[in-house]
This record gives sequence, C-alpha cells and structure tokens, in this order.
Amino acid sequence: MDLAAMTSEVRPVLDQAWDLLLAESDFVGGDAVERFEQQWAAYCGTAEAVGVANGTDALVLILRGLGIGVGDEVVVPANTFVATVEAVVLAGATPRFADVDPDTLLLTGETLAAALTPRTAAAVPVHLYGQVADMDSIGEVATRAGLAVVEDAAQAHGATWNGRRAGSFGVAGSFSFYPGKNLGAFGDAGAVVTSDPALASTLRALRNHGRVAGSHHLHAEVGTTSRLDTLQAAVLSAKLARLDAWTEARRAVVARYEQALAGGPARMVGTGAGAWPAWHLAVALVPDRDRVRQGLSERGVQTAIHYPVPCHQLAPYLPYATGGLPVAEAAAGQVLSLPLFPHLTGEQVDTVCRALRQVVGEMAAIGAS
Ligand SMILES: *Cc1c(COP(=O)(O)O)cnc(C)c1O
Repeated sequence: MDLAAMTSEVRPVLDQAWDLLLAESDFVGGDAVERFEQQWAAYCGTAEAVGVANGTDALVLILRGLGIGVGDEVVVPANTFVATVEAVVLAGATPRFADVDPDTLLLTGETLAAALTPRTAAAVPVHLYGQVADMDSIGEVATRAGLAVVEDAAQAHGATWNGRRAGSFGVAGSFSFYPGKNLGAFGDAGAVVTSDPALASTLRALRNHGRVAGSHHLHAEVGTTSRLDTLQAAVLSAKLARLDAWTEARRAVVARYEQALAGGPARMVGTGAGAWPAWHLAVALVPDRDRVRQGLSERGVQTAIHYPVPCHQLAPYLPYATGGLPVAEAAAGQVLSLPLFPHLTGEQVDTVCRALRQVVGEMAAIGAS
C-alpha cells in the first residue's frame, strides 16, 4: 500500500484550501465541513451526510440515534473488521453473529434470517472488501422482521448494488475515512449518510455534546465529542474529485488478479449478481494460504490477511457467540489480501500475477501428487 501518490495528486488544491483555513483559524465546523457533507450526501444518493470523528463512532452514533441499546440484539456478520461488533457493544446493545455467503463472504438474507431472535432490533450488513452485500434479500428479511438496517460501508465508498450506492439502502450508513480507506483523510475521520432528516439532526446533536441546534449552552441529551475536523473535510473534498478514477484503477487491478487465478485452485472472492464493487481489498481464497503467502513473500510480494480470526472468536466477543459459523471460520484460514492501491503500476501487477501463478501452481502440483 502506497498512499503517497494519492497525496501528491491532491496536494496543489489542498495547499490552497489549507492556507485559507489556517488564515481563518477555522478548525472545528464551518463551511468546509458543510461543503463536504453536502458533496458526500450527493455522491451517496442520500439527503444528508453528518461528518463525525471516525467510522466506529459513525456506527455507535447511528445505533444510539435510533434508540438501539440495552436489551436489543443487533445482527452483525462474523466476517468483518472488529469495529462493527465493537460499535454494537459500545452502544449498549448485544451483538449476534451471522455467518456469510461462501462466494462473497458477505451477510445475506439467509444468514441474517438464521441469526434472528425476538429481541433483534437491527441488522448491520457490512459491505466488506468494497462490495455491497445482497441488499435485496437482506432488505426483505429485515422488512419482514421489522428491523432497522444500518450499513457498515467503511470499505465501500462508491460501490453500488443494482445501481444504488452503498449507504443509501438502510435507515443510515456509516463510512470511515481512515487514511488507508478508499477515500482517506490525513488522520481519522468518518461520516453517517441518511435520508431521514430527524435522525440526521439527532446525530448532529449527539456528535456535539448533545447540544441543541443553534444554542450554545442547551444540552438536551448525553452526547459526545465526535466531529469531523475542518482540515480533514478539506482533504476529503479534494480527494472526492479523484475517487471515481481511483476506484476504476482498483477495479482494473482486481480484474487482472481474477485472470491470473482463472486456472484455480485459488480464486478471488466472488461478485454478487447486483454488485458493482469499489474494491478496497483484493481478497483471494487460497488453499494452503500460509504457504502461498510465504512463497509470495519470497518473490517480493507483500500480502495481508483480512481477517485471520472471525469476530465471534475474538476474546471480548466470545460471550456473545452462540455456536459455530462454518463459512466464516473456514474463510479465515483461506483469505489472502493481494497488493491493491490505485497507483500500482502495470509492471507491479505483472510481478504479482506471475508470482501468484508460480506459487499457486506449485502448491496445486504438490497437493495433486
Ligand atoms: C475501518 C472500518 C471501520 C472503522 O472505522 P474507523 O474509522 O477506523 O473507526 C468499521 N468497519 C469496517 C468494516 C472497517 O473496515
């Protein structure tokens, strides 16, 4: 992962924007934040966006804003970054883990339905790796069960399902703008998108000490400090202009990996019928993963694992586990994240593809003999 090239692309615009902000000493709130919020809502196809301090807070604040907490159960997929389940616990609610689809490794209507209980108040589909989960089947199950759908879109900036963008399906969607995310700030940042104006104004109060809009000393509820910094908002506006081009570049790299692995037995995670992914991670499912990883490393190809332990098996969340989740557990032993960022050169991608074919081919030959 190399963020430097993305930074240089926006540097000239940003130098100007930051000069202005430094001259105005406008560091919290102000025009730059409102401008980015409007741009981000328009981009996602929602009525509103509310900037917050990070993606985890975005989820916690949505749940709190919906009145979901103690006594409520919230379904989360076991295959996700820990922040999804962490947010549920921080909001005071009880997480319930669902398994995932063996092809996409995402929550589906079927795996959601299997995790429901009479206390389920919400479902948090996670658009992991940059791919929107099957929002048709999830939406059907949620409507039938009367659940709020809250999308964790922290890895899916600009991804669509049947032409609609991540974050625009549920009552609200959360985004992270952590530097390594597809739209990344120069530090921590996040946002909620929603088309529910009442929820948006509740979130604007919650992120700012429960302060009543337009007043300074009236605090109507227990809030917190979780605002989007003005300097970060300027970074995000500058980078948003480049996001679609960067997404296309990421998609082209993943298409090359798909070709390189076409002979099997390893394969890239599958794409759902309605999904147009904005890949954040290029995740392959690889038999004998750890040896393949070693072989790639010996050929100078750095890889990572997202995620080696499914959330229901992480120590703080063991008390919430209700049984085995075979697909998520098997996937944790096979997933391998290949190099992915917009400025990977054709030559670098060639190198990765060549190494993949060699190492995966060797492993397959050993397995067959
Ligand atoms: C990054 C991420 C988060 C949390 O975002 P932060 O900004 O780091 O708090 C939540 N969910 C998923 C799936 C993520 O990848």
